[in-house]
Amino acid sequence: MNKIQRGALAALLIVIVVIAALAPAGIGFLFAQRSQRQAETTRLNTVADAALIRAEDVTRRLSGALGEIGKVAAAPCSQPYLRELRRIALTHRQVRDAGAYDRDGRWQCSSLLGAVSAGTLDGLTLPAPDWRSRDGLMAWYGLTRLPGGELSLVMGRNGFYVAADPALYIDGADFRAGPASGVAVINTEVSRVIATTPATDAAAVLAVYRTAPPVRDCSPYVVRRSVSMPLAVVVSAPHQSVRQRLRTLPWAWLLGGVAAGLLFAGWAAFFIVRRLSPRGQLSDAVRRHQFIVAYQPIVDLATRRCVGAEALVRWKYHDRIVRPDHFIPLAEHRGLIQAITDQVLDTVLLELGDFLRHYGEYYVSVNLSAPDLTTHRFLDVLGPAIARQGVRPQQIRIEATERSFLDAEAAKEVISAFRHAGHAVYLDDFGTGYSSLSHLQNFRIDGLKIDKSFVDTVGQDAASSSVASHIIDMAATLDVQVVAEGIEREEQAAYLHARGAQFGQGWLFSAPLSAAEFIRYAGKTRGA
Ligand code: C2E
Ligand code: CA
Ligand code: CA
Repeated sequence: MNKIQRGALAALLIVIVVIAALAPAGIGFLFAQRSQRQAETTRLNTVADAALIRAEDVTRRLSGALGEIGKVAAAPCSQPYLRELRRIALTHRQVRDAGAYDRDGRWQCSSLLGAVSAGTLDGLTLPAPDWRSRDGLMAWYGLTRLPGGELSLVMGRNGFYVAADPALYIDGADFRAGPASGVAVINTEVSRVIATTPATDAAAVLAVYRTAPPVRDCSPYVVRRSVSMPLAVVVSAPHQSVRQRLRTLPWAWLLGGVAAGLLFAGWAAFFIVRRLSPRGQLSDAVRRHQFIVAYQPIVDLATRRCVGAEALVRWKYHDRIVRPDHFIPLAEHRGLIQAITDQVLDTVLLELGDFLRHYGEYYVSVNLSAPDLTTHRFLDVLGPAIARQGVRPQQIRIEATERSFLDAEAAKEVISAFRHAGHAVYLDDFGTGYSSLSHLQNFRIDGLKIDKSFVDTVGQDAASSSVASHIIDMAATLDVQVVAEGIEREEQAAYLHARGAQFGQGWLFSAPLSAAEFIRYAGKTRGA
C-alpha cells in the first residue's frame, strides 16, 4: 500500500468514524425533538380544549344572565328593577355589574351605582358594539369607563347589559397546568381578541390565528374553534430562552446517541485498523497461507557440490514478495511466528518431500524463533510430518540465532531434544550477538553459521577481517561444523576453505531458488 493510498484510507477511516459517531446522535436527537414537540402539542391541545370549554361556558352564563334581566317585569331602573339587577349580579358569579341603557346607548342605571339620576353615569354613552349577532346580542370588548373603572367585557341586548371581567375567559386552574402557556380567546366573526393571559401579545395572537395552520418553526401553538359560538382560542407554548431551551433539550437522547455512536465508531475503527494494520494483514496472511519458501543452496567448499539448502520464507503480498526481515520480527512480537514456522515446514515437505526421500544425502535447514525453542511443540509437529513423507530426521536441520535463546534453560532442553531426535542444530548469525562464545560452550550444537558481516571483510584490511578465521579455528577446537554465509566472491570462498570452513552459502554459488530450480541446481552440482 503506497503513501497516497494510506492517506486516502486514513481519511476514509476518519470520515467513517465521524459519521458513525454522529449519525446515531443526530438521529436520536431529531427523534427526541420530534417526540418532545409531539408531547408539547398534546399538552397544548389539552389546554386549548379546557380553555374553549371555559370560554363557551362564560359566554353561555353571561347571556343567561342577560336573559334573566329581560324577564324582569318591573319598570326599567325603578327600585324593584334595580333590586332584581342586584340579585342577578349576585347570583351569577361571572357578572360584575348589570344595568340598562336607552336607545341611544346612554346609561340609565347600574346594579352597582343605581339610577343615572345619582349623577355618576350622567352623560355616559356606550360606543358602537364591537360585535353584534344576527339576533341582536351585542358585545363590547375592553370598556374601561364602566362602574369601577376596570376593564370590562360587556354583553348587551334590548337596552340592558351585563359586565364581566374579561379575565374570566382565561382564568381557571384546570388549564394552567404545566409550563405557563399563552392563552387568548378570540371573537372569530370580527377577529377581536376578547381576553388573553398576561404577557400575551394580542396582535401576535391574531396574526397566528389568521395564518393558521401553524407556522412550523416558531413556538408551537394550537387553535380551537367553537362549533356553537363565534369563538376560538389560541394557545401558544411559552417562549423559551436559550437557557430554558438548553435545559429542556433531550440531553439523555443526545448523550445516549453520542455514546452509542462512539461505541459503534470505536468498534468500527478498531475493526478497520486491525484489518489494515501490519499485524492484521500478517494474521490474514497466516490464515490464507500466503507464504512461500525460497531455497538457498549450501555447498561443500571443497567440491562445490550442493549438500542441502536453507529454507527462507517470503510473504506473497498481492503481487509483491516481502522479505522476512520485514515481517519476522512482527510475527515474533505478535505471536504469529509458530504458525509461520509450521507453514514453512509444510511447504518444504510438499515441495521437496519427494526429492529428500529420493536423495537421502540432502538436507534442508529451517530457521526457528524463540517460541519454537521454548517448548517441544514444533518437534511434535516435525516428527510425524517427516515420518509421513519418508524423510529422515537427519534431512531436516535447525537454525537458531542467539536471539532465540531468551529462555536459555528451555532452549537448551529443546535443542537437546531436537538433536536427540536426529536433527542437527546450527547456531545462526554466529559472532553478531554478545555471547556467541558462551553459547557455543553452554549449548551442545552441531554447527555454526558465520555471519555474512565477517565474510564481507575477508580480504580487506579491516580489523575484523580475521574474525572469520578465528571462528573457524574455535569451531575446529569444539568439533562443530562451519557454514560460512553470504559468500559473494571467489576469493572469500577460497580463503574460508583454506582456513578450514567446510561449507558455504551465498550468491557466489546461488541466490535463493524456487524448489524446482533448487532441484535442478542440486542435480547439476551432483554431476560436477
Ligand atoms: P539468515 O538466516 O541469516 O538468512 C540468510 C539471509 O541472507 C537470507 O536473507 C539470504 O537471502 C541472504 N543471503 C544469502 N546469501 C547472500 C549473499 O551472498 N549476499 C547477500 N547480501 N545476502 C545473502 P533473507 O531470505 O532475507 O532472510 C533474512 C532473515 O530472515 C534470515 O537470515 C533469517 O534470520 C530470517 N528468516 C528467513 N526465513 C525464516 C523462517 O522461515 N523462519 C524464521 N524464524 N526466520 C526466517
Ligand atoms: Ca538462517
Ligand atoms: Ca544467518
